[in-house]
Amino acid sequence: MPLATLPAVPAGTPAVLLLSGGLDSTTVLALATEAGYAVNALTFRYGQRHGIEIDRARRIAERYRVARHVVVDIDLRLFGGSALTADLAVPKDRDAATMAEGIPITYVPARNTIFLSFALAWAEVLGASDLLIGVNALDYSGYPDCRPAYIAAYEQMANLATKAGVEGTARTRILTPLIDCSKADIIRTGLGLGVNYDETISCYDPEGDGTPCGRCDACALRAKGFAEAMGRPA
Ligand code: ZN
Repeated sequence: MPLATLPAVPAGTPAVLLLSGGLDSTTVLALATEAGYAVNALTFRYGQRHGIEIDRARRIAERYRVARHVVVDIDLRLFGGSALTADLAVPKDRDAATMAEGIPITYVPARNTIFLSFALAWAEVLGASDLLIGVNALDYSGYPDCRPAYIAAYEQMANLATKAGVEGTARTRILTPLIDCSKADIIRTGLGLGVNYDETISCYDPEGDGTPCGRCDACALRAKGFAEAMGRPA
């Protein structure tokens, strides 16, 4: 499996990055910084179960000295429909085979479409052509809005949706440097760039102080990734 890469750009090229405070988006931030981007980071307080990831995203954005970090408030609890935005239990202790079956209740309806729409709007204002998102189609939880076909379709839509796209002054690209990587390769990539993963949070259902539950799908995928990255059997 290849380590994740992001081609170098002229120093200071603006980009908008979706930053959740998790392992994947933090790795993309490290890659983007290394590539020369002036990163404008976008984080959502969308009604998720805990606010810890917002704190983590703030800390990580500061560490990487992003050009700007915006935290957007949108309340997806108005709709619910997910274990992350409604009073539904987060699945625990699922094995890999069970996790691979279907789309789990932690799927938040249309979340990446909503987030990318905000990113696209900000990018157009900034004159940025590149949107960066840490989606992953390999060690993911079966979410439909993490697949390459979805990203390609969104990119096509983005170029029909914006003034810059219609006037031909800029072509929007959605860059997904992690999309084909295993969790272990994402971690190896980040460690190679000096990412401090202790600052990131993956858990869907942490304690109030941020301690991960160790039992949800996100915790399981993260633990498996670290085990493989460190050369231990998962
Ligand atoms: Zn957890």
